[in-house]
Amino acid sequence: MPDTSGFIPVNEPLLDGNEHRYLAQCIKTGWISSEGPFVERFEQAMAARVGKRFGIAVTNGTAALEAAVAALNLAPGDEVILPAFTIISCAAAVVRCGATPVLVDCDPLTWNMDVAQVAARITPRTRALMPVHLYGLPVDMAPLMELAQQHGLAVIEDAAEAIGQTCAGKPCGGIGHLGVFSFYPNKHVTTGEGGMIITDDPDLAERCRSLRNLCFQPGRRFVHEELGWNLRMTNLQAALGVAQLERLDEFLARKRAIGARYQRLLADVPGLQLPQAATPWADNVYWVFGVVLDETLGLTVPEAMQRLHREGIGTRPFFWPMHEQPVFMRMGLFREERHPHAERLARRGFYLPSGLALRDEHIERAAAALRSVLA
Ligand SMILES: *Cc1c(COP(=O)(O)O)cnc(C)c1O
Repeated sequence: MPDTSGFIPVNEPLLDGNEHRYLAQCIKTGWISSEGPFVERFEQAMAARVGKRFGIAVTNGTAALEAAVAALNLAPGDEVILPAFTIISCAAAVVRCGATPVLVDCDPLTWNMDVAQVAARITPRTRALMPVHLYGLPVDMAPLMELAQQHGLAVIEDAAEAIGQTCAGKPCGGIGHLGVFSFYPNKHVTTGEGGMIITDDPDLAERCRSLRNLCFQPGRRFVHEELGWNLRMTNLQAALGVAQLERLDEFLARKRAIGARYQRLLADVPGLQLPQAATPWADNVYWVFGVVLDETLGLTVPEAMQRLHREGIGTRPFFWPMHEQPVFMRMGLFREERHPHAERLARRGFYLPSGLALRDEHIERAAAALRSVLA
């Protein structure tokens, strides 16, 4: 729906396909819990889209990461390598299961984990790698998978921002041993709140299913060998997911068109770094349209964001690096570590309205506002 107040929110989802019809079916049939038929349908459709056998639908992307990490049975002292520049969910999932997150810096142009730094961080305690596809471009997965194979490491691929994106022709989320998705409303497919784990490995799939459902046992239901969680997705959420997934290709094309329009409108703004349009392994899908302000502009990100807000343009800052998170510093993690590219992106980057409901005139207005704020 167009926003009549004129404010352009940073994200607005599109829900005008079969969402209403499928939700009505849930209510009419009484299937509203996780037992309903849309859950399995959504799991199968997502798994098929990624070219994998199993999908395990859960309550959100963070929960999917936690279950995926927990499924690896890590011991205290075991290490998982992940980017310093990402959402807290990634490192939190590692910390919560008692293992140790180990960070690598990001590439200053793709903003993704710098795969060239991973080898130097591998130790005898390394058990897994967690690449995270950020802001629309995927991590260079081929050399990462090769390292994983050489060292016998599991790969948990966080593809929350890369639903439908590919890396060298392979679907993101289907390259690692476990792929993780989020269906928060700013993701390419939304269920309101929701997440999924994708894998080809029947044992890992079974383990994730068990962890999702309190580790109830088939034979003696209320006798527990292990502690799980209740991470079950409802049929209502899955109904939305099925309807959304039907339109994924259209959504991806729209995301790319939004990104291309911003690129054209902002290409000649001095001191403004725009997203990289492509790498040898992927075309940017512009999950969000991020910009990085050069230090020479003499304007901080909070100032720019505040001025854009006054112009009626919603924005969000970039992620804050893991080694600078107060909660992790208090735990004694990442002491004295520096990841200069992640630190700079966190201070100089933010993103513009990029939701699927965004109209072309909104993009023109947002770009014009940014241009005048920086002039
Ligand atoms: C959104 C997101 C998550 C977390 O998903 P939620 O559903 O919000 O819990 C995890 N990783 C990345 C990269 C994300 O963008």
